[in-house]
Amino acid sequence: MARSVSYTTLDELIVSHFSLTAHCCNSKCQHSNDLDLMDLAWKLGPYHSCGADGLEPKLRCTKCGGRQVSIKVNPQFLENRQRGIY
Ligand SMILES: [Zn+2]
Repeated sequence: MARSVSYTTLDELIVSHFSLTAHCCNSKCQHSNDLDLMDLAWKLGPYHSCGADGLEPKLRCTKCGGRQVSIKVNPQFLENRQRGIY
């Protein structure tokens, strides 16, 4: 079931209680980390794009320092279901 969700700014993700996960594209590293949206909004501004084109160039892998980072939006309702909240 394909479901496309489009959010354009960091602010919208925060309001929707979504989270962002960054994945390092370095095949030897493959570090992944949940991003702190409040921190990003503080640094980049709440109306900064949360799209891959706007955000990925700003990110750097905290493990290997690589700049090839891809992001993934995590809808909160999915996480809640995985945690068995409902
Ligand atoms: Zn890395």
